[in-house]
Order: sequence, then C-alpha cells, then structure tokens
Amino acid sequence: MSSASIKLPSTLDCITCGLCVPTCPSWQLTGRESQSPRGRVHLIRAHGEGRLPFDRDLVDELQDCLVCRRCESICPAGVSFGGLMEIAREEASAEGFRLPRKMRVMLGQLNKPKRLSVGMGSVRLLQRLGLSKWMDPAVRALPPIPAAAQRTELPEWSRAETKKQGEVWFLEGCVMPELFGRVNRAAVRLMQLAGYDVRAPKPRPCCGAMHAHGGEGEAARDMARAWIDMADDLGWPEALVSASAGCGAHMDEFGRVLAGNSKYAERAVRFAGLVVDASVLLEQAPGRERLTSKMKAVPTKFLPVAYDDPCHLCHAQGVRDEPRSLIDSIPELVRVNLSDPEACCGSAGLYSVMHPEKSQALLASKLQDFETTGARTLVTANPGCQMQWTGGVQAPKRVLHLIELLALSIEGQLPT
Ligand code: SF4
Ligand code: SF4
Repeated sequence: MSSASIKLPSTLDCITCGLCVPTCPSWQLTGRESQSPRGRVHLIRAHGEGRLPFDRDLVDELQDCLVCRRCESICPAGVSFGGLMEIAREEASAEGFRLPRKMRVMLGQLNKPKRLSVGMGSVRLLQRLGLSKWMDPAVRALPPIPAAAQRTELPEWSRAETKKQGEVWFLEGCVMPELFGRVNRAAVRLMQLAGYDVRAPKPRPCCGAMHAHGGEGEAARDMARAWIDMADDLGWPEALVSASAGCGAHMDEFGRVLAGNSKYAERAVRFAGLVVDASVLLEQAPGRERLTSKMKAVPTKFLPVAYDDPCHLCHAQGVRDEPRSLIDSIPELVRVNLSDPEACCGSAGLYSVMHPEKSQALLASKLQDFETTGARTLVTANPGCQMQWTGGVQAPKRVLHLIELLALSIEGQLPT
C-alpha cells in the first residue's frame, strides 16, 4: 500500500470547519494557519497528492505539532489527527528528515532497561555534584533522579490483598521505574487493595509511543509486536493497566500501528482492547468500595487540589470523570477547577526537548491558571506532565500523580 493511500482518506475527512483551530496550542502560540490542525491536514493532503514535497520548512511545520490530540476532541468529522501525524512524520523520516541524531540515540535507550538505569545513575551523580548546567538540555530537564534503592523494578507478581477480583498486567514503563518508581509501586498497591493480582510482565518492553511520535515507526512497531508476543508466551491478561496516560494512549492504538501486518493485525486490535488507565480500573473495580472505605482526609497543607487533564487521557482516551471521582472520594477534600484543564502543559514527549521555549510558554499559561485557583496541589495522571508541572510549581505548592494522592489518603503518607 502506498503511503498516500494510507493517509489521504483521513485527510479527506476534514470539512475545513475550523472548530479545531483556536483550541490548538501551536496555533495559539503563532496564530498561523499552517500551525493549526486544519492547516496541517491540508499540508499533509497536498503532500499526499504530490503537490508539496517534503522539505525542511514543511517538516518543521509538522514537527511543531505537540500531538496533544486536542483537535480530535472537537473535530466533528472525526479526523484521527494523532495517527495522521505519526504517519506523516514516518514518511518524512523515510525521505531523510529524521529526528536529530541525539534524539534517536536517546530513544534507542528506552528499550534497554539496564543501560537506561546506568545512564540515570550517572545523571544522578552529576546532579548531586551540581554539574547539571553543563549537561545537554534534554538531560537538564530531568527531575532529581531518585537513589538507586528507589529505582528498582516491580516484582513480577503482586497478589490481591482481599478476595481476588481479577488478574491484570501493569505497564511498568521504560523511564517510570527510574523516575517514578514510587508511582508504580503505589499503583500496584492500590490494585492489590482493590482485589487484583497484578503482574508486571518481564522483560518489560517500552510501549514505543515516543518512537511513533518521532517518526521512528519501525521501532514502534517492533515494540508493539514484542508486547503481543509476550501475551502469547505468558497468557493473555484480563487488562493491561497503565498509570502513564501517554503510554496507555499509544498502546490503545496498537490496532492501527500494526494494521498493515497480517500476522499481527487481529491480535493487535485485541491487545489494544485490553488497555485501561489505572484511574478507570480503580473507579470501576468491584473492590472500589473497599478502597474508598480506607480513604482518610489528607493533611490540609495539600488542599485545595486542582486536577489537570493529561491530553493523552482526556483527548486520546476520553477519560475525564474517573480521576475526578476518585479524588472526590477522599474525605474532606477540596477540589477546585482550572479554567482550561484540557489545555496542553507543553510537555508532549519530545516536544519539550525539541522546543523548550514554546514548551515553557505553554506551561507559563497553565501556571497562571493554577495560581488563580488558589490550589496548593496540582494533580495529574501522566509522568510527562508531572515532570513539566514540577519544573514550574514553586514550593510549598506541589505536584502529585493521582496515584500518589490516593496512596496518601489510604496509607497516611506519600509513597516512596
Ligand atoms: S495535535 Fe495538538 S498541537 Fe497538533 S494540531 Fe492537534 S491540537 Fe494542534
Ligand atoms: S475540526 Fe476537524 S473537520 Fe474541522 S477543520 Fe479541524 S480537522 Fe477539519
């Protein structure tokens, strides 16, 4: 199948209504049509029809997209913008417009847990020696790397702590054990309390989301196939649970990612159907009441809280109510609303590294929104957003993953 025949049907869905334009963060920053979803759809269509070959300018226009998928939430024609952008970037990559080499090297580490761990250990050392300012901006953007004792893998099995309600897999992730192991451990604990046997399957392939966003399609497909092979080897789970909205959103698309592979296509659709965000699993768990009964008020220094919707949870997975419902189950909790909780914080995977100034401009407007609410804690449900917000929220205010807030309420202390 030619690349044009893949992408043109999606671009032709666009009815040029323009509803998406004002909601798009890159359009908000520039005011240019070519930086809007509608403009990009037309650029991709012109390329597919052979009227506009890839050159540096065109590729830059496409690379400026955050793949936040906010345009998908509002589009009446159902343009699948995220998939379209991944295909366009892969085609640009095949024509020689690949990501900068250092980005590709970085992506190459994500599926090598041991090497990644050694690298994070080195970054931690440099951070502690105060040498951060000499590091590459991509490395400089990392939060403080936890001590080695906290950068550990999950056990393969964690058993239900009450009457068993089911057996699920948990997506441990590539960077999560290194930076947010505490969130992983707390997520598993909450699922155990809700009655699940939790398996963190080994080896733990990366989900491939960053590779797909960056146009490295073959690497992303390799990882999708690895997950499906693993399900065949270990036995298919009842669900694949993710506490990382970006990873979950990508795995939710494995059907599209492997649609061209007759050997895997059917199983890819089946696998994608198993993906569920941790907030949805916990909210809908038969053991939800048991979980709620264990919740206690959190210290007032954390209140009020404001929940910010990660783009890949609300726009890509349509999950909006479940995180709020779980937060509101915490006794005496005060939750206030951001004025635009579905606007992108500017993290967007590789975007914050490739476009640091624009990324910070988007964060600045979110920080202003947060300040206006008077909240003391910003709650998110995606590690990338958590890193981005943490870089801007000033102590004593703080940023927590939803899982950390729930664990605080149940365990009486923040997870470590
Ligand atoms: S994915 Fe986000 S940044 Fe890209 S065109 Fe859509 S709204 Fe704009
Ligand atoms: S909202 Fe959808 S149909 Fe309307 S211009 Fe944007 S992409 Fe096209």
